[in-house]
Amino acid sequence: MKVIKLSSAYSGNNEIKYVEQAVLYNEISNFGKNLNLFSQQLEAYFAKPNRIALLNSGTSAIHLALIQLGIKVNDEVICQSFTFSASANPIVYQKAIPVFIDSEAETWNMCPVQLEIAIKDRLSLGIKPKAIIVVHSYGMPAKMDDIVKISEKFSIPIIEDAAGALGSTYKGVKCGNFGEFGIISFNGNKIITTSSGGALICTTENQKIKANFLATQAKASKPFYHHEEIGYNYSMSNIVAGIGRAQMEVLKERVLKRREVNVFYKDIFEGINGITLLTEPSQYYYSNHWLTCILINFEEAGFSNEDLKKELEEHNIETRFLWKPLHLQPIFSDFPYYGKYISEQLFNRGLCLPSGSNLTNQDKNNIKTVIMRFISNKIN
Ligand SMILES: *Cc1c(COP(=O)(O)O)cnc(C)c1O
Repeated sequence: MKVIKLSSAYSGNNEIKYVEQAVLYNEISNFGKNLNLFSQQLEAYFAKPNRIALLNSGTSAIHLALIQLGIKVNDEVICQSFTFSASANPIVYQKAIPVFIDSEAETWNMCPVQLEIAIKDRLSLGIKPKAIIVVHSYGMPAKMDDIVKISEKFSIPIIEDAAGALGSTYKGVKCGNFGEFGIISFNGNKIITTSSGGALICTTENQKIKANFLATQAKASKPFYHHEEIGYNYSMSNIVAGIGRAQMEVLKERVLKRREVNVFYKDIFEGINGITLLTEPSQYYYSNHWLTCILINFEEAGFSNEDLKKELEEHNIETRFLWKPLHLQPIFSDFPYYGKYISEQLFNRGLCLPSGSNLTNQDKNNIKTVIMRFISNKIN
């Protein structure tokens, strides 16, 4: 029986053509037409000419942002707790210290109140955090007005982890364009993919040049290999950029499809006690709805997220629990945390539902039937 995946990669119209061209013209390493045109597409999308570095992952993009902000041993970097570990791992690559912040209940992203409390407390201890990593989890924009204000008030730059938020906007501004640096991921489970890849969205052209320099082993311009800085092997290949080009052409359509999937679930859960969807709080928020997520209140619903997950699994429908907050992860549990129990509650109650833009009507019917039957059995 067919498995309905949480979110799966699939081709658009021109992947073969662009990859074939690269092979035909021997542009099969880290330069060529696909890289040029893919970065032009992204530059046009973000309205950031010569400000985008193409890399081999979103994680590398975060790492290069931290390096460019001068993050070093024992520096503190503020990071949203409710996110994927890749948001914070590069802080530890730099031997710096992540300071985790709880979420607010509306967007599930960084709570501005806790952010300000944390900054003031760190300052009172004589430590000034060097950067703020904010995430648009599951494609939902964070409360960027408040967060940008706090960043400006305390002069702490923002790194915007928009890994899964390509296509999302807040007050008409594209997610990825708010920070000193923004990052996008083209990993296989994201809204579009290059199979594996990422991009760093910079504020200045020099930052982009520096990112590309660091991403190609930091070779100084001399007739021999000369290194004054530690470099990385983080660049994107012209082959995968061909896939990126073709995927970028279908981004708009895929965002609309994901939003349709979100409406599909909204209709299913309308009027069902104890279930709430992650929803845009106002017209200022436009989510790509990369993943549609729900919270289940056991007392009201009569079943838990685990119960529903198990039921769907038995019918070959894949779901995933929400992020386990990073401050609760064994690798990060010794680092400071500011907040209460919002992100922990999200983890305890939440579930990500199959949200691929390639869900068929048949898939949707299956999902709906299984969920409706499960709920009505529980209620009766
Ligand atoms: C996917 C993801 C990343 C990492 O991106 P990669 O391209 O897989 O390295 C970072 N942060 C978040 C929130 C993500 O979802």
